[in-house]
Amino acid sequence: MSSDKTQWFDHNYYSTYRIASRVQRLALCPDYRYLEALMLDDGIFEFLPHWQKDSALHKFIRYIADEIMESDNSGDRAVLFGADMMKPKKTIPVEAALVAYGLREKISFEIPDIPPTAHTEGNLTRFETAVEVHDACYEHFLEVRLSQAYEDFLKKISKEVFYVMFTNRVTLQALHEYLSRYVMGVGHDTEESQSSRYRKYLERPGAIKRTKVPKWVQRAIYFRDRGMCTKCGRDLTGLVNRFSSENFDHMIPLARGGLNDVTNIQLLCSGCNNSKSDKFQLSSSRYQDWY
Ligand SMILES: [Zn+2]
Repeated sequence: MSSDKTQWFDHNYYSTYRIASRVQRLALCPDYRYLEALMLDDGIFEFLPHWQKDSALHKFIRYIADEIMESDNSGDRAVLFGADMMKPKKTIPVEAALVAYGLREKISFEIPDIPPTAHTEGNLTRFETAVEVHDACYEHFLEVRLSQAYEDFLKKISKEVFYVMFTNRVTLQALHEYLSRYVMGVGHDTEESQSSRYRKYLERPGAIKRTKVPKWVQRAIYFRDRGMCTKCGRDLTGLVNRFSSENFDHMIPLARGGLNDVTNIQLLCSGCNNSKSDKFQLSSSRYQDWY
């Protein structure tokens, strides 16, 4: 269907399912305060360009993975390392992860060996990580966060999580519904709408232009949905060379703030697409068994 070269990558499955589960939860039930920084400073503009291979889902995953890393690396979680099994050293998870991904040669940070303080209330004792440990870990994390290795790490993580989530159309649709609220707000004030940088993506304020679905998107959606209409199950494999844009349906319609993004597309037969038009319809959560 296309001459695009297939990309191969190795999975490490580092926290993949934990991140995927958080992504799913936040897509289905957005916590606007938690996601605030994603949309800060007109963050939505990153999502507007048509058909980015770094899809909306990749961006969303990176944001959440980074938030998870931030909370994981404040000193409460430790990973053991070192040759001496009897007296292992401790480091923060991000250090271990970078080494596991081959992005760093060795671990470059050791958690300071300060014992936690014990608080006793009645007959209950709680242990609390020392403030110095929190500070040292967090400071080191902030340093790592600025490195190229960390950026590469988030890229790899987003590919892995994307891989396990791409088939989950209901979650993808929910993610695009969340994004659509911001898309619908774009281009209304004059300064924004006159900026040619964004105007070229907009049909009118709040709505993205309809453009041709590129071959690589067609191929990805065709294989993911196994050549079948996601709504009625009609076998479309015979049409493989005659697919038209109407077979590639925007789950969140462009008229309602949907994006030209591979994660907003599903395969529909022309009958189902015609009956849908610009209405919002929940994507099907029915799948054909593997065997
Ligand atoms: Zn159909």
